[in-house]
Amino acid sequence: MLDNIKDAVRKFLSGSSSYEQAVDEFIKDLQKALISSDVNVKLVFSLSNKIKERLKKEKPPSSLERREWFIKIVYDELSSLFGGDKQPDVVPDKIPYVIMLVGVQGSGKTTTAGKLAYFYKKKGFKVALVGADVYRPAALDQLIQLGDLIKVPVYGEQGNYDAVGIAKRGVEKFLSEKYEIIIVDTAGRHGYGEETKLLEEMKNIYDALKPDEVTLVIDASIGQKAFDLASRFNQASKVGSIIITKMDGTAKGGGALSAVAATGAIIKFIGTGEKIEELEVFNPRRFVARILGMGDIETIIEKMKALEDYDSIQKKMEEVMSGKTKLTLRDFYKQMIALRKMGPLSKILQLMPGVNMLGQIPEDQIKVGEVKMRRWMAIMNSMTYQELDNPSIIDKSRIKRIAFGSGTEIDEVKELLDHFNNVQKMLKMIKRRKRDVEKLFGQFGN
Ligand code: GDP
Repeated sequence: MLDNIKDAVRKFLSGSSSYEQAVDEFIKDLQKALISSDVNVKLVFSLSNKIKERLKKEKPPSSLERREWFIKIVYDELSSLFGGDKQPDVVPDKIPYVIMLVGVQGSGKTTTAGKLAYFYKKKGFKVALVGADVYRPAALDQLIQLGDLIKVPVYGEQGNYDAVGIAKRGVEKFLSEKYEIIIVDTAGRHGYGEETKLLEEMKNIYDALKPDEVTLVIDASIGQKAFDLASRFNQASKVGSIIITKMDGTAKGGGALSAVAATGAIIKFIGTGEKIEELEVFNPRRFVARILGMGDIETIIEKMKALEDYDSIQKKMEEVMSGKTKLTLRDFYKQMIALRKMGPLSKILQLMPGVNMLGQIPEDQIKVGEVKMRRWMAIMNSMTYQELDNPSIIDKSRIKRIAFGSGTEIDEVKELLDHFNNVQKMLKMIKRRKRDVEKLFGQFGN
């Protein structure tokens, strides 16, 4: 499912065609992949337009390759197609907690009941299952088998067709036995044309149980048809969430996920196989990262993150320059980490605090080599927060301890501290100069 997007990303990042051409090709590949995964055509075009607009309006940050930046934009926009930053809260906010599963027959409801029970059992909850799917004769046996497998008790009444009564008695029994999460598998209907009946039955059981959550199970292979089902369900149920099953077995998973996300319903889990443990908490960003090829996208995200860190360091530098706050070794440390993630070391010079504003300091005086930087990082790793925040307390005995702890030499620790002091001196110099300049201009101004 959506596998070809990964190839398109790889082709795009390493391709030899011009950037503009590569962007066009990639967008076409992306559209093709999404449409063949049954994502609604309108959604696909609005996604491509959003990407194109951002390309026009925004500019790549200096530390990121243009192509990488483009993939980051694709990552953002695809993520919002599948629900954005929404992350489902799968841990119940109260105990006991009753979950009622609804869905069309064959959607994977009973299997999912077992998977959910297993998921929560592993989280340490006392879990029980109730089998109220009376339309499918084998459903109860199947549930009992699953219950045996994961050692979770199952309530059911073989031969009884009163789903509401069974559900009620089962839940009451387990509540009285102090079970914490009770999952009720209810009767499914026979086809996707019968949502109304499904919702009607759901209502009857709902009224009898007053569950804390109603979960609609949808088979991914219905693709974008999931939109109608999910939106009706979403309107009918205030405590609704959705699980999409069989993501492994269909090319239409992208269509189902995007369609459900478009209704605003919460997708809590996806089923990714027949086995009991093949249930995943659904996280749109993680899902998209996987579609795009984890490795590539992760490095890009890291770089973006480092860039944000760097921005916050810049802000801090401005505050230092204006005298609002002092520079600490901890800032220095953060800066180095950000730099390392951002790329070539040649940047270090420009980005060192104050240095970029100085210009006249000879390069080799402040240049720090890769090896040295690594050792400095180790040294700073061995410092306490107190020392990082207030380097002036680092005396001889502390220097000795830090050198020992970081596997470096005493002279290296001293060198780092000297370097830090030099940077501070430079900063003071700049500050003074700035003040002089301001004074000078002040005489002429106003
Ligand atoms: P129900 O009628 O809704 O209770 O459906 P079942 O739980 O009996 O599931 C119907 C079929 O779908 C069974 O063969 C399951 O093994 C299969 N199934 C359920 N979930 C998944 C899934 O996530 N992936 C795959 N490949 N098969 C699944």
